[in-house]
Amino acid sequence: MQTDSLGDRILNGERRALARAITLVESNRADHRAQAAELLGQLAGAGRQSLRIGMSGTPGVGKSTFIESFGMMLTAQGLRVAVLAVDPSSARSGGSILGDKTRMERLSRDKNAFIRPSPSQSHLGGVARRTREAIALCEAAAYDVVLIETVGVGQSETVVSELSDLFLLLLAPAGGDELQGVKRGIMEMADIILVNKADGDLKATATRTCADYAGALRLLRKRPQDPEGYPRAMTVSAVEEHGLEQAWEEMQTLTQWRRDSGHWDTNRATQARYWFEQEVRHALLARLETPTARAEMEQMSAKVGAGDLSPSAAAEHMLASLGVD
Ligand code: GDP
Repeated sequence: MQTDSLGDRILNGERRALARAITLVESNRADHRAQAAELLGQLAGAGRQSLRIGMSGTPGVGKSTFIESFGMMLTAQGLRVAVLAVDPSSARSGGSILGDKTRMERLSRDKNAFIRPSPSQSHLGGVARRTREAIALCEAAAYDVVLIETVGVGQSETVVSELSDLFLLLLAPAGGDELQGVKRGIMEMADIILVNKADGDLKATATRTCADYAGALRLLRKRPQDPEGYPRAMTVSAVEEHGLEQAWEEMQTLTQWRRDSGHWDTNRATQARYWFEQEVRHALLARLETPTARAEMEQMSAKVGAGDLSPSAAAEHMLASLGVD
């Protein structure tokens, strides 16, 4: 059977098989969904537990440059690295600002790396599920590190942080004013803030920006899952490849701490529960979007407006007609 051999090829680490499988999980076609479900079932528990690193940063901050340098450093150490993108712009407009194939050319030629552009034209809920399934496929294919990249807009950070073991925030050197431009919620998600472009003329500004963010991080409540001194801010230069090893060391230290303290497993379990609940919510909301349900909703709404039915009676009727009473 086709999916059987595809599964075997993924387990053998064939990148083309992995790419084909991700296409299946991204597809809306019913037969593809069925094949994807079968494949995911077959591969469940295979491969390894990758380190899932979420990364966010506004366009132009240097995400692709960083991922390429950082990814090359990891593959040089013998690690296998997969890069996935969650791109809210493609969900909205069909156009993508992440993960297009011209980015990260060196890394994409590296046989120990796998780069997947973001799926286009899907709402964020759908993107989340597909990314989750793509991560599962990368783990089955025994990638050591899965980098999940997103841009600093909208809800996508929440999605990515709920899919990651570690969350990096990449920032550009900037004046004090821009510190306030980073939303508190995003700061709170970050395990490590990397101030990029700490080179040449920008080096001094980067160092100052880093100190500002370190100060801001100290004001946040210390999290039980973190050792002393985390979350932390540091400077890097993706172009000059400075600070990447230190950043990797910090990530490993934090990961080890969380593994030892049991937080790693708790976090994955919490995430799995979160995604279960999200799936139920999405599936229920999707039921309201069928033509029949919409028509029924209109009708009930008109009756409520006319005073023929109370809002709660109409809601009960509606839920009964959806079969979820
Ligand atoms: P992305 O939109 O976040 O993926 O950003 P890119 O990686 O495409 O980088 C945007 C611009 O910043 C490019 O012109 C890069 O060459 C430049 N850039 C990225 N990293 C660095 C860095 O470490 N130092 C300097 N000076 N420029 C950088």
